[in-house]
Amino acid sequence: MLRRALLALLLLVPSFAGAQSKSSVLLISFDGFRSDYAERYEARNLIAMGKRGVTAKAMLPSFPSTTFPNHYTIVTGMYPAHHGIVENSFWDPKIQARFQFSDAKVAYDTRFWGGTPLWVLAEKQGLKAACYFWPGSDYEIQGTRPTYWYNYDGKVTNQTKADQIIAWLQLPEDKRPRFMTMYLADVDHEGHAYGPDAAETRKSVQDVDQVLGDLLARIDKTGVPVDVIVVSDHGMIKVEGNIDLGKFTSFEGLRTVGGGNDFKIYSDGTPEANAKLDKVYADLKKAEDGRFGVYRQSEIPKELHYTGNARIGDVVVLALKPIALTVTDPNRPPRQGANGGPRSTHGFDVARVPEMKAIFYAAGPDFKQGITIDEFENINVYPLIARILGLKITHKIDGDLKVLAPILK
Ligand code: AMP
Ligand code: ZN
Ligand code: ZN
Repeated sequence: MLRRALLALLLLVPSFAGAQSKSSVLLISFDGFRSDYAERYEARNLIAMGKRGVTAKAMLPSFPSTTFPNHYTIVTGMYPAHHGIVENSFWDPKIQARFQFSDAKVAYDTRFWGGTPLWVLAEKQGLKAACYFWPGSDYEIQGTRPTYWYNYDGKVTNQTKADQIIAWLQLPEDKRPRFMTMYLADVDHEGHAYGPDAAETRKSVQDVDQVLGDLLARIDKTGVPVDVIVVSDHGMIKVEGNIDLGKFTSFEGLRTVGGGNDFKIYSDGTPEANAKLDKVYADLKKAEDGRFGVYRQSEIPKELHYTGNARIGDVVVLALKPIALTVTDPNRPPRQGANGGPRSTHGFDVARVPEMKAIFYAAGPDFKQGITIDEFENINVYPLIARILGLKITHKIDGDLKVLAPILK
């Protein structure tokens, strides 16, 4: 009785009620969910969510269209060259260490991670953050972690993640996170193994869509106001074949990292290494054939925003068509798809390979209802979320609130 009276009072007092209705933001990533998958594979919950809120025709990944660079761009508002996670793997000449996304023992080094991810921005300004996975969320960045977080473990089921999101939302307000992330690997996984056109990939789209539908229904029941944003990091395409760079030159005496969509070559700066680098550059340049480009870092096309960071390499080979760059190593044959053919993949420049386009859907109390917007760059998600949460951005980022402000009420 008393509770009901109190509740009625809360609803009557506008300032009190206003303070109560501050939304949490839930940022969900469907890794490798290509921009055409929702329609093509009938992701009805995702489409319905967009119809209640906002659907973007596509979201443009930053270059390179790989997982760690783009997830970290989405939560920092910076291009990979600026936030520092320039690839899933790279060499850092200053730290003298190799970043490898799948090896937490090296990736936890705070010096790799630039920018201010949203969970750090939130925590520093007094809001709680909670991540059920997101690249970087299980490491200390600027001495800060989300209040709630987990070490990455690919075996955790989506059901477990969804249950935890609901449990977080049911916490009392002083413990409840205002910024949350959830990460689902299924679609990327099946896309690599079976290709974007496969029945297995369709099924993975249906699976994550079901997880989304169930989660949205449960969020509704909590009565907590939540702005839900569903994004992906990149798309997926069948690979047309391999190009063995070792046929054109020898990389001996130089450090190399990469393969697939790009191949990075680093000189240690000694005259001998620099001379070798010049030779490698000249050899590869002669072999350029329209399927790959060879660049000194300063020559990388400006539109890629991929320069000004030693981690990118002194000379870089970029795949310009959906091919896989390799250097024959009898111990490490090129990776194959589930059916024995080349593995489908991503990482390419979205302007050359539109199959790299990603998704953006949003719905909740702070979003306009039933609008469709043009494609936009993923650097712009950060200032949008900061605005919803009332977080001040005082450092320089690449994204601009102007791009997505029109989708807010
Ligand atoms: P990619 O090689 O670019 O396709 O990367 C996708 C893979 O990254 C996923 O299948 C996961 O295994 C892995 N992954 C995603 N998030 C994380 C994370 N936070 N920590 C470690 N590995 C991750
Ligand atoms: Zn990915
Ligand atoms: Zn992938």
